[in-house]
Amino acid sequence: MKSKGWAVVTDFDGTVTLKDVGDVLLRHFNAATREEIENSYAPHVKMEEWMMEYFRPLKIPRKKIEAYVLESTRLRGGFIKFNAFCARRRIPLEIASGGVDLYIDCLLKKWKLRIKSFYGRTRFTKAGILVEYPCLKGATLDVFKAARVSRYQRLGYKVAFCGDGTSDLKAARLADAVFATKRLRRFCLEEGVRNRRLKNFLDVQKFLTQQGK
Ligand SMILES: [Mg+2]
Repeated sequence: MKSKGWAVVTDFDGTVTLKDVGDVLLRHFNAATREEIENSYAPHVKMEEWMMEYFRPLKIPRKKIEAYVLESTRLRGGFIKFNAFCARRRIPLEIASGGVDLYIDCLLKKWKLRIKSFYGRTRFTKAGILVEYPCLKGATLDVFKAARVSRYQRLGYKVAFCGDGTSDLKAARLADAVFATKRLRRFCLEEGVRNRRLKNFLDVQKFLTQQGK
Protein backbone atom coordinates (compact mmCIF):
# COMPACT_ATOMS: atom_id res chain seq x y z
CA MET A 1 0.00 0.00 0.00
CA LYS A 2 1.25 3.47 -0.87
CA SER A 3 2.12 5.39 2.28
CA LYS A 4 -0.23 8.22 3.11
CA GLY A 5 2.39 9.87 5.27
CA TRP A 6 2.02 10.32 9.00
CA ALA A 7 -0.81 10.39 11.49
CA VAL A 8 -0.49 11.35 15.16
CA VAL A 9 -2.26 9.78 18.13
CA THR A 10 -1.69 11.46 21.49
CA ASP A 11 -2.59 10.92 25.10
CA PHE A 12 -4.01 14.00 26.88
CA ASP A 13 -3.19 14.09 30.61
CA GLY A 14 0.49 14.73 31.22
CA THR A 15 1.13 14.74 27.47
CA VAL A 16 -0.91 17.54 25.86
CA THR A 17 -0.98 19.07 29.35
CA LEU A 18 2.16 19.26 31.47
CA LYS A 19 0.59 17.52 34.46
CA ASP A 20 -2.07 14.85 34.74
CA VAL A 21 -5.20 17.01 35.17
CA GLY A 22 -7.29 14.20 36.66
CA ASP A 23 -4.65 13.46 39.29
CA VAL A 24 -4.13 17.12 40.14
CA LEU A 25 -7.82 17.76 40.66
CA LEU A 26 -8.41 14.59 42.70
CA ARG A 27 -5.48 15.63 44.93
CA HIS A 28 -6.72 19.20 45.19
CA PHE A 29 -10.22 18.16 46.29
CA ASN A 30 -8.84 15.45 48.60
CA ALA A 31 -10.46 12.62 46.67
CA ALA A 32 -7.23 10.62 46.35
CA THR A 33 -3.95 10.50 48.24
CA ARG A 34 -0.58 10.78 46.59
CA GLU A 35 -0.07 7.08 47.23
CA GLU A 36 -3.43 6.11 45.68
CA ILE A 37 -2.51 8.10 42.59
CA GLU A 38 0.91 6.47 42.41
CA ASN A 39 -0.77 3.05 42.70
CA SER A 40 -3.09 3.88 39.80
CA TYR A 41 -0.06 3.64 37.50
CA ALA A 42 0.83 0.08 38.52
CA PRO A 43 0.78 -2.12 35.41
CA HIS A 44 -2.13 -4.31 36.61
CA VAL A 45 -4.47 -1.38 37.34
CA LYS A 46 -7.15 -0.64 34.75
CA MET A 47 -7.05 3.13 34.52
CA GLU A 48 -10.65 3.45 33.32
CA GLU A 49 -11.93 1.51 36.37
CA TRP A 50 -9.73 3.54 38.68
CA MET A 51 -11.20 6.78 37.26
CA MET A 52 -14.76 5.53 37.83
CA GLU A 53 -13.95 4.61 41.42
CA TYR A 54 -12.23 7.86 42.37
CA PHE A 55 -14.50 10.38 40.64
CA ARG A 56 -17.72 8.91 42.00
CA PRO A 57 -17.45 10.17 45.61
CA LEU A 58 -16.35 13.66 44.56
CA LYS A 59 -19.01 16.00 45.96
CA ILE A 60 -17.85 19.17 44.25
CA PRO A 61 -20.03 21.20 41.87
CA ARG A 62 -19.05 21.14 38.22
CA LYS A 63 -18.41 24.91 38.09
CA LYS A 64 -15.95 24.70 40.96
CA ILE A 65 -14.05 21.84 39.35
CA GLU A 66 -13.92 23.64 36.00
CA ALA A 67 -12.72 26.87 37.60
CA TYR A 68 -9.90 25.04 39.38
CA VAL A 69 -8.90 23.13 36.24
CA LEU A 70 -8.87 26.27 34.09
CA GLU A 71 -6.64 28.18 36.48
CA SER A 72 -4.25 25.33 37.32
CA THR A 73 -3.64 23.51 34.02
CA ARG A 74 -0.80 24.31 31.66
CA LEU A 75 -0.62 23.21 28.06
CA ARG A 76 2.62 21.60 26.87
CA GLY A 77 4.63 23.99 24.74
CA GLY A 78 4.05 24.04 21.00
CA PHE A 79 0.74 22.20 20.99
CA ILE A 80 -1.38 24.98 19.48
CA LYS A 81 1.13 25.49 16.66
CA PHE A 82 1.47 21.74 16.22
CA ASN A 83 -2.30 21.36 15.85
CA ALA A 84 -2.33 24.10 13.18
CA PHE A 85 0.65 22.44 11.44
CA CYS A 86 -1.17 19.08 11.31
CA ALA A 87 -4.32 20.74 9.93
CA ARG A 88 -2.27 22.57 7.26
CA ARG A 89 -0.45 19.43 6.19
CA ARG A 90 -3.56 17.27 6.45
CA ILE A 91 -1.85 15.07 9.02
CA PRO A 92 -4.56 13.33 11.07
CA LEU A 93 -4.16 14.22 14.75
CA GLU A 94 -6.29 12.71 17.47
CA ILE A 95 -6.45 12.48 21.24
CA ALA A 96 -7.01 9.07 22.85
CA SER A 97 -7.41 9.61 26.57
CA GLY A 98 -8.54 7.97 29.79
CA GLY A 99 -9.42 11.47 31.06
CA VAL A 100 -12.95 12.84 31.19
CA ASP A 101 -15.06 15.53 29.49
CA LEU A 102 -15.46 17.30 32.83
CA TYR A 103 -12.03 18.88 32.39
CA ILE A 104 -11.02 18.08 28.81
CA ASP A 105 -13.95 19.94 27.22
CA CYS A 106 -13.39 23.20 29.09
CA LEU A 107 -9.63 23.09 28.47
CA LEU A 108 -9.94 22.45 24.72
CA LYS A 109 -12.46 25.30 24.57
CA LYS A 110 -10.17 27.65 26.48
CA TRP A 111 -7.28 26.88 24.14
CA LYS A 112 -9.58 27.04 21.08
CA LEU A 113 -8.54 23.56 20.00
CA ARG A 114 -10.80 21.49 17.79
CA ILE A 115 -9.36 18.01 17.67
CA LYS A 116 -10.86 14.59 17.11
CA SER A 117 -10.85 13.19 20.64
CA PHE A 118 -11.79 10.06 22.53
CA TYR A 119 -12.24 10.29 26.31
CA GLY A 120 -14.57 9.48 29.18
CA ARG A 121 -17.99 10.98 29.85
CA THR A 122 -19.13 12.19 33.26
CA ARG A 123 -22.63 12.55 34.68
CA PHE A 124 -23.40 14.40 37.90
CA THR A 125 -25.96 12.28 39.78
CA LYS A 126 -27.20 11.86 43.34
CA ALA A 127 -24.90 8.85 43.59
CA GLY A 128 -21.91 11.02 42.67
CA ILE A 129 -20.00 11.70 39.49
CA LEU A 130 -20.44 8.73 37.20
CA VAL A 131 -17.70 8.10 34.65
CA GLU A 132 -18.32 6.10 31.50
CA TYR A 133 -16.18 5.24 28.51
CA PRO A 134 -18.53 4.55 25.59
CA CYS A 135 -15.62 4.93 23.14
CA LEU A 136 -13.87 1.86 24.56
CA LYS A 137 -16.73 -0.46 23.56
CA GLY A 138 -15.67 -2.89 26.28
CA ALA A 139 -11.94 -2.82 25.53
CA THR A 140 -9.43 -1.68 28.15
CA LEU A 141 -7.93 1.78 27.71
CA ASP A 142 -4.45 0.56 26.75
CA VAL A 143 -5.88 -1.81 24.13
CA PHE A 144 -8.08 1.01 22.80
CA LYS A 145 -5.12 3.37 22.39
CA ALA A 146 -3.15 0.66 20.60
CA ALA A 147 -6.16 0.01 18.35
CA ARG A 148 -6.24 3.70 17.31
CA VAL A 149 -2.58 3.39 16.26
CA SER A 150 -3.08 0.17 14.31
CA ARG A 151 -6.21 1.59 12.66
CA TYR A 152 -4.17 4.36 11.02
CA GLN A 153 -1.49 1.88 10.04
CA ARG A 154 -4.10 -0.28 8.31
CA LEU A 155 -5.23 2.82 6.43
CA GLY A 156 -1.67 3.24 5.14
CA TYR A 157 -0.29 5.83 7.57
CA LYS A 158 2.84 5.76 9.67
CA VAL A 159 1.88 6.71 13.21
CA ALA A 160 3.63 8.93 15.73
CA PHE A 161 2.37 8.30 19.26
CA CYS A 162 2.82 10.70 22.18
CA GLY A 163 2.26 9.68 25.77
CA ASP A 164 3.38 9.64 29.37
CA GLY A 165 1.74 6.77 31.26
CA THR A 166 1.27 3.06 31.77
CA SER A 167 -1.83 2.91 29.57
CA ASP A 168 0.26 4.29 26.68
CA LEU A 169 2.75 1.45 26.52
CA LYS A 170 0.78 -0.89 24.24
CA ALA A 171 0.25 1.92 21.72
CA ALA A 172 3.91 2.91 21.95
CA ARG A 173 5.02 -0.64 21.14
CA LEU A 174 3.04 -0.51 17.87
CA ALA A 175 3.76 3.06 16.78
CA ASP A 176 6.29 3.94 14.06
CA ALA A 177 7.66 6.78 16.19
CA VAL A 178 7.22 7.36 19.92
CA PHE A 179 7.47 10.65 21.82
CA ALA A 180 7.52 9.77 25.49
CA THR A 181 7.83 11.48 28.83
CA LYS A 182 7.71 10.44 32.49
CA ARG A 183 6.58 6.85 33.17
CA LEU A 184 6.13 5.94 29.53
CA ARG A 185 9.69 7.04 28.81
CA ARG A 186 10.98 4.88 31.66
CA PHE A 187 8.95 1.86 30.47
CA CYS A 188 10.18 2.35 26.90
CA LEU A 189 13.79 2.55 28.03
CA GLU A 190 13.36 -0.58 30.20
CA GLU A 191 11.70 -2.52 27.40
CA GLY A 192 13.91 -1.27 24.63
CA VAL A 193 11.07 0.51 22.79
CA ARG A 194 12.69 3.17 20.63
CA ASN A 195 11.50 6.62 21.63
CA ARG A 196 12.28 10.30 21.61
CA ARG A 197 11.83 12.47 24.65
CA LEU A 198 8.65 14.55 24.50
CA LYS A 199 9.42 18.03 25.74
CA ASN A 200 7.71 20.39 23.34
CA PHE A 201 5.35 19.55 20.49
CA LEU A 202 7.48 21.60 18.11
CA ASP A 203 9.98 18.72 18.35
CA VAL A 204 7.28 16.39 17.01
CA GLN A 205 6.57 18.93 14.28
CA LYS A 206 10.26 19.09 13.39
CA PHE A 207 10.42 15.29 13.23
CA LEU A 208 7.40 15.10 10.90
CA THR A 209 8.84 17.87 8.72
CA GLN A 210 12.10 15.94 8.41
CA GLN A 211 10.14 12.84 7.47
CA GLY A 212 8.77 14.71 4.47
CA LYS A 213 5.21 15.00 5.66
MG1 LIG B 1 -1.30 10.54 30.46
